[in-house]
Amino acid sequence: MKHTCHVPDCDTPVTPKTLMCAYHWRQVPALLKQAVWEHYRSGQERDKSPSREYIRAERAAIDSVRAKEKALMHKKGIIAPEGGEPVVHLNIPVPTKEEVEKIERIRQSRILIAVMRANRDFPEILYAKMGEAADMLEIWVNELEAE
Ligand SMILES: [Zn+2]
Repeated sequence: MKHTCHVPDCDTPVTPKTLMCAYHWRQVPALLKQAVWEHYRSGQERDKSPSREYIRAERAAIDSVRAKEKALMHKKGIIAPEGGEPVVHLNIPVPTKEEVEKIERIRQSRILIAVMRANRDFPEILYAKMGEAADMLEIWVNELEAE
């Protein structure tokens, strides 16, 4: 069975003996690291019976990482501090209905152009005409896209 870092949402694989991946372990305050190792008993990962003290130290270490990550996200404005507004508002543009329609029109036209150019079953003369039409359509689509 794959054993991963105990920090929630981190799926970095680590050996069963190890509590966290190197990246997260680095963020744990020295005293808590010490507490984790102090209460670690060799073989507890196999018999699955760590001591109460170990569990407490483990939880504190994980909480310290989560608190740091949360503070970092507050700083970056990704999540709001408790009961407040994000420090920085993320400016994610939401496309308007017209923009969505335009994108869809461009997408369909590009498919049509590809079909017009690919269909070699047309008679020679028609194929040439179809190529010209595809070129014209492409110019129009490029202009539309550049708007
Ligand atoms: Zn991790």
